Amino acid sequence: MPRTLDAIDLEILRILARDCKATIKDLSAQVGVSPPVVRKRIRRMKSWGLIKGCTPLLDPEVLGATSYIIVFEFRGHQSIRKVFESNPEIEKVYLSTPKRLGVMVVRVLDVKRLDTISRNLEDSGAKVVSTAIVDDESLERTWLPERPLETVQPKCAFCGSPIIGRPYKVTLEDGTILLFNSEDCAEAYFTLRTRKRTNK
Ligand SMILES: [Zn+2]
Repeated sequence: MPRTLDAIDLEILRILARDCKATIKDLSAQVGVSPPVVRKRIRRMKSWGLIKGCTPLLDPEVLGATSYIIVFEFRGHQSIRKVFESNPEIEKVYLSTPKRLGVMVVRVLDVKRLDTISRNLEDSGAKVVSTAIVDDESLERTWLPERPLETVQPKCAFCGSPIIGRPYKVTLEDGTILLFNSEDCAEAYFTLRTRKRTNK
């Protein structure tokens, strides 16, 4: 499994970035390769963790939400993850470990929720540096490299860390390929999945 991103992959990604519901048939016609080739390439890029999903882009302002950015200094990723999970108003979090600096984008209907989130952050050991309202967010795009890449760094489907060296590969019955750092990560992944299923 070569870990390169060629011009065909990039073209597929460019189309999907504009319209993630483009069908295999559409992609095949536009890129000029056969449907099985398109399918195979998409599967491979999914297995790298490169294509993360297909989510509708909503405009929160239409729903009456106000957007804020919160800049904070943090201690641990785990505690920030907990704050994120317990506050659905947090849309995005960016963390920079070397400087222990984080930014989050928050959408709230009621400004009081902003205080709750700030308090949750402080309780997690983080320090809120600044909170500011967002009054212009017209600039956004799905980033893609401009040219083909020699190497692509896939991520482990269980722990999310970059896979260095040979990945541990699992092909599911439906053809989905999953890549892991090691057999241990694969085992942990399937144990968790079975547990989640039996809980439902
Ligand atoms: Zn892993």
